[in-house]
Amino acid sequence: MDGPVIARGDRGFDDERRVWNAEIDRRPAVIARCASTADVVRAIGLARRLGLDIAVRGGAHNTAGTATCDGGLMIDLSLMSQVTVDPDARRARVGGGALLADVDAATLAQRAGRARRADQPHRGRGTDARRRHGLAEPQVSA
Ligand SMILES: Cc1cc2nc3c(=O)[nH]c(=O)nc-3n(C[C@H](O)[C@H](O)[C@H](O)COP(=O)(O)OP(=O)(O)OC[C@H]3O[C@@H](n4cnc5c(N)ncnc54)[C@H](O)[C@@H]3O)c2cc1C
Repeated sequence: MDGPVIARGDRGFDDERRVWNAEIDRRPAVIARCASTADVVRAIGLARRLGLDIAVRGGAHNTAGTATCDGGLMIDLSLMSQVTVDPDARRARVGGGALLADVDAATLAQRAGRARRADQPHRGRGTDARRRHGLAEPQVSA
């Protein structure tokens, strides 16, 4: 693995297993902190070999806590938070572990000096951004 693998009992395990909803208190057997697509492939292979359930942790904000599991393998994407923006194609590539702050930083950097928060489509809230760009979700491709 390019990124670290943390098992129960390892230092930092309790910090790494946490999700946003503090009521969710699950303990995976192992956390694969993937740093690359190849790491994700390796982690899935390991889970298959060991017969472990898999949970994928993106931003860990899902309130039901679906980013984690008990006794399985958590594929933690938080190290894969890179965002690259191609302004000509009007397209951003967003890593699976990116938070809105990462997207904000990358997209606003492209518009330095001209950016206003209300210009961000994902923060629409009835501002002119939503009228101009529409909702964010239909513009996402995997
Ligand atoms: C304060 C707060 C405000 C919110 N506001 C909104 C809102 O305005 N609008 C809205 O729609 N939602 C909102 N949500 C809900 C939240 O944004 C969604 O639940 C979203 O799915 C969280 O994304 P995440 O990357 O944190 O997902 P996680 O919690 O990490 O994962 C959610 C699920 O997706 C799976 N998953 C994550 N990444 C991948 C991946 N790369 N490949 C495959 N599966 C993956 C996980 O396994 C899990 O099942 C809010 C949540 C919070 C806590």
